[in-house]
Amino acid sequence: MKISVITLGCKVNEYESQSILNQLKTEGYEICEGLIKADAYIINTCAVTNTAERKSRQMLSKIQKLNPNAKIVVCGCAVQNNPSQFLKNKNIIAILGSEGKNEIIKFINNKNKVLQDIIHDKYVNTTRPIETRTRQYIKIQDGCNYFCTYCIIPYLRGRSRSRNIDDIIDEIKNTKAKEIVLTGINISDYRIGKELGLKTLIKEIDKLNIRFRISSLECNILDNEMIDILKKSKNFCPHFHISLQSACNDTLKRMNRRYTIEEFMDIVNKIKKNFSYPSISTDIIVGFKGETEEEFNITLNNLKKIEFSFMHIFPYSERSGTVATKLIGTIDKCEQKRREHILQELNNKFKEKFYNQNKNSIHKVLIEEVVDENLSLGYTDNYIYTYIDSKCKVGDIVEVKLLKPYLNGMQGEII
Ligand code: SF4
Repeated sequence: MKISVITLGCKVNEYESQSILNQLKTEGYEICEGLIKADAYIINTCAVTNTAERKSRQMLSKIQKLNPNAKIVVCGCAVQNNPSQFLKNKNIIAILGSEGKNEIIKFINNKNKVLQDIIHDKYVNTTRPIETRTRQYIKIQDGCNYFCTYCIIPYLRGRSRSRNIDDIIDEIKNTKAKEIVLTGINISDYRIGKELGLKTLIKEIDKLNIRFRISSLECNILDNEMIDILKKSKNFCPHFHISLQSACNDTLKRMNRRYTIEEFMDIVNKIKKNFSYPSISTDIIVGFKGETEEEFNITLNNLKKIEFSFMHIFPYSERSGTVATKLIGTIDKCEQKRREHILQELNNKFKEKFYNQNKNSIHKVLIEEVVDENLSLGYTDNYIYTYIDSKCKVGDIVEVKLLKPYLNGMQGEII
């Protein structure tokens, strides 16, 4: 039987889909990914926004057009949020919540429809993902306790729980990848027992001599000790993705974020002082509930001071089931667009400046794709997509001089 796995949503979902693929492969199924003709499909759904949830549902009709007799298993956040929305579909054989992803094999040959949505309170180990020879995500944590008012994740993935450190180290020791990316829902809250444990974990990983990234951090974890650990590391890729969401204290308060803009700026300044070419990126929600013109201008001015390398800008979108739906002050769509446009223009300036600062600097690039004799592609340690005009080998790490901004990254030459 040929089974395709379709993934919506975040990096954690991607990791879990790779784990599902590995379970299926081990059992001898023919596997593929995406909207390709197959006998059965597993949709790993997302529900972070109402739109993401709708897209997860729409995937069903797309599959039915490809193969009207396909067997379908749905799992993940959209199921966790509202399993009944999948009940009526005749092709669905199993409806599994977040933890059901570990037991897909049990359900793939179901005759009767199964409905199961559970989140465990302990970290449940998944089958390890399909191996890659380039970059491998390593899941270290699941769930979140922060309850930011716009976010549904703690209700869908449950409370924060961490993976055993020995198991993480073992997975990294056995990977064939050249780079790993620590991932999770809120990895700043990684714990060993009851204590915060990300620093210990990073020190242990650093001993393994594999280049590593951290997918996303909350600023509160980046104290002097953490910055020092990362600075001393020979394997850490200096790309800091630190969620900010708004650069105005009043908006941050309504979002239930746990820092002030002054604390955040202080941390960014320390990173800039301590690393030679760090990239510092963030997520910003624009037009959050009650964001006045004044609040937006405070955010804009503070962002100009911070000067990120790049930002991901999201117009606020109401997610049913969150506290923010009860806040007053919905921002008109046109006004939201206007603010988004202003931040996007600022983002373009940030990127241009960041690339120009990196001109003539030397970085290690992990080759992820070789197009032909004259073009190889990959990311620098500080996360610049690099176009190299020579033939390299996928999985090699090469030393490159960055020449000039080009398309969505920079051109570079091997030195
Ligand atoms: S930190 Fe906030 S935004 Fe991130 S997953 Fe937790 S609740 Fe959601």
